[in-house]
Amino acid sequence: MAANTGSWRLERPVINSEECIYCGTCQKFCPTDVITVTKAEDDSSVVIDFDYCKGCGICANRCPKKCITMVPEEGVCKS
Ligand code: SF4
Ligand code: SF4
Repeated sequence: MAANTGSWRLERPVINSEECIYCGTCQKFCPTDVITVTKAEDDSSVVIDFDYCKGCGICANRCPKKCITMVPEEGVCKS
């Protein structure tokens, strides 16, 4: 079992489901393979395993719709 790296994260990806086209690009480029994109007729979804997402932002950079926003984790010290 890999170490839980989610606690290292300073920012987390938030997906705008209104804009997402469920193309799977974020899943393809995530270096820790924690994104699961499901495209279905009436139940499409993008699920991120935040136990292991390290907040690198690659998914946000690669998203063709620019519908992933990196937002600061609450409680993270910025000083
Ligand atoms: S890359 Fe962007 S548009 Fe494509 S599935 Fe991921 S969040 Fe949705
Ligand atoms: S921020 Fe990095 S680790 Fe987290 S889901 Fe996006 S690409 Fe994967």
